[in-house]
Amino acid sequence: MSIKSVGGVAVQPKHKLSCHCGAVVLELSLPDGIVDPRRCNCSMCRRRGAIVASVPLDGIRVVQGEPDLRLYQFNTKVARHYFCGVCGIYTHHQRRSNPHQYGYNVGCLEGIDPFLLPHVPTNDGVNHPSDRAPTKAA
Ligand SMILES: [Zn+2]
Repeated sequence: MSIKSVGGVAVQPKHKLSCHCGAVVLELSLPDGIVDPRRCNCSMCRRRGAIVASVPLDGIRVVQGEPDLRLYQFNTKVARHYFCGVCGIYTHHQRRSNPHQYGYNVGCLEGIDPFLLPHVPTNDGVNHPSDRAPTKAA
């Protein structure tokens, strides 16, 4: 799923993302809009409650606030969860399920109202893809 505009507001090919206090500003490359937005029920996501979408690793540039970004890791310590050390808002994370992607907080996109997104599916993060028994080769 890829969304090019939300409530009449266009997603820019280079779209800014900011934390709540404004210390951290990222520039996202979103030529295809908001890709694969979803919620997740894992122990982390169910607490932070954010809608997360996907961007390749080279699709995020830290414009401002690099020193304010804090890293949180848990469990397998593969995923890298970043948040603003001043206001505590989650901005983005490097995925465990696909280390070549970042997930980012759709609610931090400038001018975009995440509540106007169409139906956002919930990912089954409790049963993480990396924890499931290998399925038959596809
Ligand atoms: Zn902040």
